[in-house]
Amino acid sequence: MDGKKKSIDVPIEALMLASDYEVDSAERPRSPYPFDSQSDASAAAAAAADAAADSHAAASGHRRQGSDYDNAPPPPYESVDPLALATEHGLELNAAILVEEPRNHQPQQGFLRWCGSFRNEAIAGVDCEMTPFDSVSASAVRRACPDAPTDSSISFVQLNRVRLDPRFRETRSPAPDLTPSQRFGHKTCEIVDGDCKPVAHEHWGKLVGPSRGIQGHHNSCYLDATLFAMFTTVSVFDGVLNRKRNKKKDIPEYEEIQKCLKLNIVNCLREHQFVRADHVIKLREQLDKLGKVPGMLGEEKDPEEFINLLLDHALKHDPYIKLSSNQACHVLQLFVDSSQYDLKLPDTETLLHLTLLQAGLKLTQTPSCLVLQTPRSGKDYKLFDRVVPSTELDISNLLTEHPRQCCVCGKLAELECHDCFLQFQEASKDYTFCKKCFDNNKDHKNPKAQHKTVGIKYPKQVTKKYGKDKPVECPVKMKLFAVVCIHTSHYVCFLRLCQPDNRPAKWLFFDSMADRS
Ligand SMILES: [Zn+2]
Ligand SMILES: [Zn+2]
Repeated sequence: MDGKKKSIDVPIEALMLASDYEVDSAERPRSPYPFDSQSDASAAAAAAADAAADSHAAASGHRRQGSDYDNAPPPPYESVDPLALATEHGLELNAAILVEEPRNHQPQQGFLRWCGSFRNEAIAGVDCEMTPFDSVSASAVRRACPDAPTDSSISFVQLNRVRLDPRFRETRSPAPDLTPSQRFGHKTCEIVDGDCKPVAHEHWGKLVGPSRGIQGHHNSCYLDATLFAMFTTVSVFDGVLNRKRNKKKDIPEYEEIQKCLKLNIVNCLREHQFVRADHVIKLREQLDKLGKVPGMLGEEKDPEEFINLLLDHALKHDPYIKLSSNQACHVLQLFVDSSQYDLKLPDTETLLHLTLLQAGLKLTQTPSCLVLQTPRSGKDYKLFDRVVPSTELDISNLLTEHPRQCCVCGKLAELECHDCFLQFQEASKDYTFCKKCFDNNKDHKNPKAQHKTVGIKYPKQVTKKYGKDKPVECPVKMKLFAVVCIHTSHYVCFLRLCQPDNRPAKWLFFDSMADRS
């Protein structure tokens, strides 16, 4: 970029976060199944029918007789001790559970929040990502059982469909006097002081096998997979580990959290290739104490939520992504209006370009790492069935001050035609032109197409250097190094290991719960 080199190789890597389906509790889709008995509308309809039946009965002076189960008045409420009922069924309140689903569907994962008796049947109040099939009408349960939880995330199912999640069985009530090695196994995990370098390529083999990586414990997979992706083989996030506390800016817990992250987790991962679960529990306890995100100790969260809590709130790291709107963030949510495109199998590069094009945004500087979150909206309403993670991401056209190439002649581009993106030349991603090539392109002249252009403004030194005739050849490319996604209902990580000498990259799969399932 100093005018001497024609091309530059930027050793940048990207962490790409992709998700199979929604786990954000705030946006969880309710009642995804059209035949679910617990949609709000059908529950309301049932309540209305009950009320109508009752008023009709009252008006006509007699109670309705007969076997109409749904319209029968509820039997008198029998208070049941939820704790005793749970114990009777071998369960525990607030334990991680699985709800059996009919018709060969995967069991739903969640938590047992309540037990009770409804219409002479033992039922459970469960907190799952999705409403289970054939669940009992929540409003009917709440009308009949005054002590039933009213939280909208709770669904009600027959208690005999609920069993303890076997992955968490051994850890559900640890005796307080057990030592960490008695609780989490005898593999030692001494704390490592100082600075440790990422695991180098000649030692990648040490990352393969049982008891490697980060040991999972009680819904920690989102955190294990994210930390493993961020720190095992790359150093792009190491600035987070080494910044000295700024008394004015940082929270009082800054040093404690940074030290735990660095010595207990990152250094152990890099030196021992193993982090025992108690080290991660310590970090979770510290983050939980901040009181910013409830349930950090036991509940499943999103990697995005965790990254923002750790980097933004706890460690106040300067955001990696800076946008031309003066906004900055650690994670960029890809969000596209795909209605005018035929995006059957989009890749992250296309989605990143579209996201920024449609929002009228650019990056004001090359991010040292780029965390992308792919579009998603629930298990059954995904925007795309699949998203291909681009292993290389060309961001040259997304940078405000970077010289850009005309996609036809290779000289300095002067304008962008957003209407050209993905429209021609077999879904070509090119959309930058010099004036001459733009005018010569017959597609732009087509009165039906009416392509609108946006002029590109460069800093003076760029226009001075390239003028009108010099070819532009300095793409800024980022390399993919990890994908965090949901696999068999919990978060896992695929680490992409870029080998030296341009040998093909290898993939390393990491699942912190691998020994539990
Ligand atoms: Zn041109
Ligand atoms: Zn065009």
